[in-house]
Amino acid sequence: KKQRFLGKTAIITGAGSGIGRAAAIQMAREGANVALFDLVNERTSILEQKLNKLRKDCALAIDVDTSDAVRMEEAVRRTVEHFGGLDIVFANAGINGAVGPIEELSLSDWEKTISVNLTGTFLTLKYSIPHLKEKGKGSIIITSSINGNSRFASFGWSPYSTTKAGQVAFAKMAALELAKFKIRVNVICPGAISTNIDESTEFNEDVESIVIPIEFPEGAQPLADGPGKPENVADLVAFLASDESIHITGAQIVIDGAESLL
Ligand code: NAD
Repeated sequence: KKQRFLGKTAIITGAGSGIGRAAAIQMAREGANVALFDLVNERTSILEQKLNKLRKDCALAIDVDTSDAVRMEEAVRRTVEHFGGLDIVFANAGINGAVGPIEELSLSDWEKTISVNLTGTFLTLKYSIPHLKEKGKGSIIITSSINGNSRFASFGWSPYSTTKAGQVAFAKMAALELAKFKIRVNVICPGAISTNIDESTEFNEDVESIVIPIEFPEGAQPLADGPGKPENVADLVAFLASDESIHITGAQIVIDGAESLL
């Protein structure tokens, strides 16, 4: 069994569920210390206990809203004090947020999605980068979506898709800026994955009025019978976090079973 992360420390945001949880488990199994960032969340402390049974003191759960600058700075500092450094950052926390016709969305609907998905990603990198620089090396992975791809769009998902496209641009800027410091930044674009993300969707009742029926059902993936599994994405995240991808930076990697090719 591979042990690619012995002696490494990773921050994983949105670690309480879905893709973040699967990535935390995978990295911890391969030797990493993992800081589990999530909103006040019972699931994160249960995961912390589970992982600490797997390997003593390898996990630390921290309740934090990634869009809160003061709390994020403190959470990153706590992680580094606890584990003695930082090597890997998985900026993954996100919400679907409000879905509906643009003229029906409120300013606060818009701002909420921007603040969690975009500002949260910015703050995660902002406070982590000085610690990665201290190590002289690092790997950052950002979770966007196929909705952040230029070729792909969904009816009513304008705030979400805007943030996901923004994350792709942000990842490229960060990759360029941090190359000098041997810090790699890559962005992943999953298609539909079976997680709890639907709990974060706030459908506006008028959304049906803008939908044009399309030939293929939304979420269909030619490579699979249904949506992908969080573990499939965790395998990609672990590859990008490890030295196996040492020459890959600024890359945008689609993981969707060909969903976005339909
Ligand atoms: P999930 O809902 O199962 O997990 C997301 C976790 O993030 C939850 O535990 C939630 O509490 C946490 N979170 C939400 N807002 C937060 C905040 N402000 N601060 C800290 N934690 C916060 O969903 P998931 O599918 O695993 O989502 C992970 C990422 O994957 C998201 O960025 C999402 O946009 C992206 N994504 C998911 C899919 C999919 O189909 N599931 C597809 C493409 C992209």
